[in-house]
Amino acid sequence: MNDRRRQHSLVTHDQHDDRHYGAVHVPVYDSSLFTFPSVAKMEKAEADGGYVYTRGNNPTVHELERKLAMLEGGERARCFATGMGAVSAALLSIVRTGDHIVCVNQAYGPARKLMGNYMRRFGVEADFVDGSDLTAIEAAIGLKTKLLYLESPSSLLFELQDLRACAELARRHGIRTLIDNTWATPYYQNPLNLGIDLVVHSLTKYVGGHSDAMGGVVIGSAERIGEFDRNELILLGSVMQPQTAALISRGLRTLPLRMERHQIGGKAVAEYLESLPFVERVRYPGLPSHPQHELAKVQMTGFGGLLSFEAGLDKEKLVRFIEWLTYFRIGFSWGGYESLVSIQERSADPHNHSVPVVRLYVGLEEPEDLISDLDEAFRAAGFN
Ligand SMILES: *Cc1c(COP(=O)(O)O)cnc(C)c1O
Repeated sequence: MNDRRRQHSLVTHDQHDDRHYGAVHVPVYDSSLFTFPSVAKMEKAEADGGYVYTRGNNPTVHELERKLAMLEGGERARCFATGMGAVSAALLSIVRTGDHIVCVNQAYGPARKLMGNYMRRFGVEADFVDGSDLTAIEAAIGLKTKLLYLESPSSLLFELQDLRACAELARRHGIRTLIDNTWATPYYQNPLNLGIDLVVHSLTKYVGGHSDAMGGVVIGSAERIGEFDRNELILLGSVMQPQTAALISRGLRTLPLRMERHQIGGKAVAEYLESLPFVERVRYPGLPSHPQHELAKVQMTGFGGLLSFEAGLDKEKLVRFIEWLTYFRIGFSWGGYESLVSIQERSADPHNHSVPVVRLYVGLEEPEDLISDLDEAFRAAGFN
């Protein structure tokens, strides 16, 4: 059977369990602790990773973890309170004082700050490289390097890394690989199958899908997940609440449906933008004009609704355009039902000028309505 169709069927059903009286949705176990009829039973639960205390294990959170591991093709998953909770726990489980990280320079801002800035106080160094250049990645790897941190595609400029080649390279140098797979979701890209060691997602975005919950997950082999299970998860304590796990589990059921719809809208908006004479550049890995479109087709099975474009250096004019929009609301983040727009800047080498980049998130509205909205706002802002 087609893998994506199988995924859809898998996320539809919770694991049937007699304890839940046949409930089709695992109930919310909003209990902070679990009690036992004997000390021996409690000790056994502790030893087996059973349900003892919700900071460690909880049935509602566990059901979400089981599904996410299955969808990514990993053995185990652990959920966190936010995407950054997952990123920081995964990083701290891998590096020690004196270690070095090689990270792609388009990685999510706070993750970059954590590695390049904050972790320095613990004697961990990081270098940031062009992720589309394998030679640059290899050149940055030194004797102290422990980790190659990837994000493909990145979430403003949508640059890709060749994941199979990166995994191969890291294995040759004996270092770990970790990828932030938030943009593609487990529905459109499965990096573990390409040889990457650990996958991180912000569940706040597409997986939750309704802009009403925050979460993160780390997925990998049982051995890799076990490394931080008893340390970074329990000791730093940034764990997911059972109520949140229930919300995100509900979102997950429609992930395949929503992604297909976001892709239809994303592609329509990207093609519309590309047809406009005053738009200089549209960045969307699903467009044949994307410089890494061929690689995108090899390692992803589809593309969602997040894209960006450039239309000149006049930021004020772009701000007028953005403020005219009605369906696209001004805001960061993405992955919910509602379309969003934000303006950011990229530095343009070699003169280090900054170029305004408009990021659009195509939600679940009718693509035709979204395109009319854009068209009207461009005209109102004086673009044509
Ligand atoms: C939002 C985001 C994160 C962080 O997730 P939070 O849930 O906000 O902590 C990490 N990576 C990417 C690509 C994101 O978009």
